[in-house]
Amino acid sequence: MGGRRKARIAIIGAGVSGICLAVKLKLSGNDDFVVFDRGGTVGGVWRENVYPGVSCDVPSRIYSFSFAPNPDWDAYFARGDEIRSYLDRVVERYGIGPHLRLGEEVVEARFVAGEWRVLTARGVESRWDFLIAATGLLVQPALPELEGRNAYRGVAMHSAQWESGVDVRGKRVAIIGTGATGTQMTCALAEETEHLYLFQRTAQWVFPKPARRYSVTTKGLHRLVPGFSRLADRFWRVAFQGTISAAAVSAGWQRRLIGGICRLSLRQVRSKELRRLLTPVDDPMCKRLVAASGFYRAVQQQNVTVVGEEIERITERGILTRDGREREVDVMVFATGFRADTFMRSVNVVGRAGRTIEDVWSDGPRAYRTVALPGFPNFFMMVGPNSPFSSESVMRIAETQSDYVLRWIELFESGAVAEMSPTQEAADRFNELLRSAMPGTVFSSGCASWYHDSRGSLMVWPWTVRSHHRMLSRIQLSHFDIRQREEAGRSGPGSESGACP
Ligand code: NAP
Repeated sequence: MGGRRKARIAIIGAGVSGICLAVKLKLSGNDDFVVFDRGGTVGGVWRENVYPGVSCDVPSRIYSFSFAPNPDWDAYFARGDEIRSYLDRVVERYGIGPHLRLGEEVVEARFVAGEWRVLTARGVESRWDFLIAATGLLVQPALPELEGRNAYRGVAMHSAQWESGVDVRGKRVAIIGTGATGTQMTCALAEETEHLYLFQRTAQWVFPKPARRYSVTTKGLHRLVPGFSRLADRFWRVAFQGTISAAAVSAGWQRRLIGGICRLSLRQVRSKELRRLLTPVDDPMCKRLVAASGFYRAVQQQNVTVVGEEIERITERGILTRDGREREVDVMVFATGFRADTFMRSVNVVGRAGRTIEDVWSDGPRAYRTVALPGFPNFFMMVGPNSPFSSESVMRIAETQSDYVLRWIELFESGAVAEMSPTQEAADRFNELLRSAMPGTVFSSGCASWYHDSRGSLMVWPWTVRSHHRMLSRIQLSHFDIRQREEAGRSGPGSESGACP
């Protein structure tokens, strides 16, 4: 056993999960960490997604960290700008600022001689005991392979690259995609545009989320009476987990209830033809359930057309569909989602014996218990493969995973371990369990969505959110290859360790 020593930690990503871990490190007394982010501010997806109507599909009361309750949420489902300012306040309140390395993109991280060597795009190398990928999930825009995409002469952009100067008032606008983004954007733009064309490839179920705001009195109560605020949070947590989360993983009354609400909501569409066009063929929640306020009202406006015809190609002036019709537009938005299975692959992460993430994920992203990878010592992922992102607030996932990482850091600092990575056998066993549990979930009821990796395997969590928390509430040493400090010091880069006794 070695003596006590502080761990040096590099976090990649200053989004929700990176901020969460940073605060937890700070609260545990660790000051030797940095948070790299290629962006100029914190916020991750909430920094990138500034399209009109952007808001959260998880109730705001449970979209905050347990260590930083937010009595000031304005909307029941927070707007993007509210979430951004909440995250800014958390960073400020916990003194994370000096640890931030904003505008510094990590391009490579390599495990050499017992430490992580982190290289930024500017060519600066630094060395760390732990590397944490808090690089996010919905980051890499997925642009469709449509013929003529570059021929279009108007303004075209992916939803995550919304240009703030674009004025759509009185313009003809095309939105391609009817996921959460396309739906929210439709609700926000329907009133403003001269004509809005919503190009739908597959109809999605839409859950009518309330467009309500907290009154001044309620906000005051949340601020002045912490017990009331905690009670409200508890109410939303129980309601959310008892319905949405439960419905995803078991076929009980919750799934019927949510399906029933979605079907009832669709009845608002008066035209039979339009209703038929908007009726999905798959089960509610097979894809990520879209939650929006006023979507069916928006698509029934005179100036809104839902186009169900397949897109043939993009033209210089607009979009040509298979029926030979061309819709001319001034602005075209690709609300076509993200390559969620990319995870941290924008960084060349190289573990023991020169193994890269590309090597180990050649069959798709797999992790040990959503957080770690065999052959990548002292490396952890936040919101990694199969995390319960389909049915839980990312704040909670990040907290559970941060606490797990902190346990390992404590062990490291105590001198009990110097290097740890899960055994291949433990990771394989966990992934086998995952695979066998998938058929019971609604996600495998037959639809395509970003829940699947490029080979069609599901990347979601097939059990309850609580079981994820329970699973990570303790470390199972027998699942890990462990090296003591002297041993780690003796071995050169590229050598393999034995299994933990
Ligand atoms: P998405 O759910 O993946 O939806 C992409 C949409 O684009 C789908 O309707 C898809 O159709 C369509 N599409 C893709 N390629 C196409 C093509 N070549 N031609 C026509 N249509 C095409 O992406 P998203 O809406 O950006 O949402 C992604 C996730 O981000 C959400 O599920 C949600 O978790 C998260 N999000 C959250 C919030 C929030 O409130 N917290 C807000 C926005 C987004 P198909 O269905 O046919 O594939």
